[in-house]
Amino acid sequence: MTPTQADGYSRSSAAYVHVPFCTSICPYCDFAVVAGRDDLADRYVAAVCSEISNSEPWRPLEAIYFGGGTPSHVDPSLLGLVLDALALKHGIAVDAEVSLEANPEDFDTVRATSLHGLGFNRVSFGAQSFDPGVLVALGRGHQSGEIESSVRAAREAGFENVSLDLIYGTPEETTDSWNDTLSRAIDLTPDHVSCYALTVEMGTPLSRAVRNGAEAPDPDTQADRYEYADAVLGVAGHTRYEVSNWSRAGYECRYNLTVWAQGEYEAYGNGAHGFRNRRRFRNIRRLEAYVDSIENSRSARAGEEVIEGWDVELDRLFVGLRRVVGVATGEGTMALLDSDDGRRLLEAGVIVRDQDRLKIAKPLLTDAVHRSVIALQPPIVSTETNA
Ligand code: SF4
Repeated sequence: MTPTQADGYSRSSAAYVHVPFCTSICPYCDFAVVAGRDDLADRYVAAVCSEISNSEPWRPLEAIYFGGGTPSHVDPSLLGLVLDALALKHGIAVDAEVSLEANPEDFDTVRATSLHGLGFNRVSFGAQSFDPGVLVALGRGHQSGEIESSVRAAREAGFENVSLDLIYGTPEETTDSWNDTLSRAIDLTPDHVSCYALTVEMGTPLSRAVRNGAEAPDPDTQADRYEYADAVLGVAGHTRYEVSNWSRAGYECRYNLTVWAQGEYEAYGNGAHGFRNRRRFRNIRRLEAYVDSIENSRSARAGEEVIEGWDVELDRLFVGLRRVVGVATGEGTMALLDSDDGRRLLEAGVIVRDQDRLKIAKPLLTDAVHRSVIALQPPIVSTETNA
């Protein structure tokens, strides 16, 4: 993907739909999710459709992403109602990418065929690992064999774009089991692979367990696992295009590319975050409170912030530097390179200048670059005039 193509996604129209229902809550998860509340699915979908219908009209959507939670956990016909609402309100471009996240245990041929028939053309499986011990430690409800059968079901149903999410660095994982996970993932010939380090998020059962003495993920081990993944995925024909994402050429996730190019995207559902009309907004996080608000004709918003002035530039660096193509040079990159932090990052080879772009060369240190970006002050504009 060329920088011009990547930056071009700033003009895309995209939408995120949050589906918060899960079978059980994984101990590391800090998303806005619920388990055992499937009884709320009909009301929730009605609320999401109402939120869509009351949103500002837009041009046809070029990328739609159903994330969660577990979209594949709910009845496909409910997801179809949401797609209908999006089509009615904004339209869906003929060649739009329409993605959903799915868990392997939910995804048989019947469900895959139904979802594909509704218009979904990309599926991202929460595979996480092929090691049974790691899957248990992560609290996942599937067996490794179900990853294979769900990918087969997706292909048979006509999905031409299949992605696998993997998690590395669980303390129960060994070097061999991570290598085996990658090799079995590659054997399934996915079009796209995401690899995420297990992180201990505040307030999760995992963070409480670690506080009580359970082993925490080791950053050095995680760095080794990441580098190994990058190497073997590269050999398998996948190119890394973002910190945690690899794909075959042409299979980069268009929804995420829109977000990273500072493109605008609608967001619907509890806890959803969006960016529209230069405003970054977030919806009410708690499911019942979100539904209650919509049912009583109140706003779904929990907060919003207008991105203007210097913040536009900081935001451009913050989201854009995640990409391998980096960002075009501008006021923000100049301010970073002029700062003490920026000079240190440049000298250490963490960031590099490449013609008219700034890139992160050591993706494992992306958070350090982000911290330096957030701390940047706007250039001082002289107010002196010539009398
Ligand atoms: S399945 Fe995914 S969204 Fe649901 S609890 Fe587990 S990690 Fe969270």
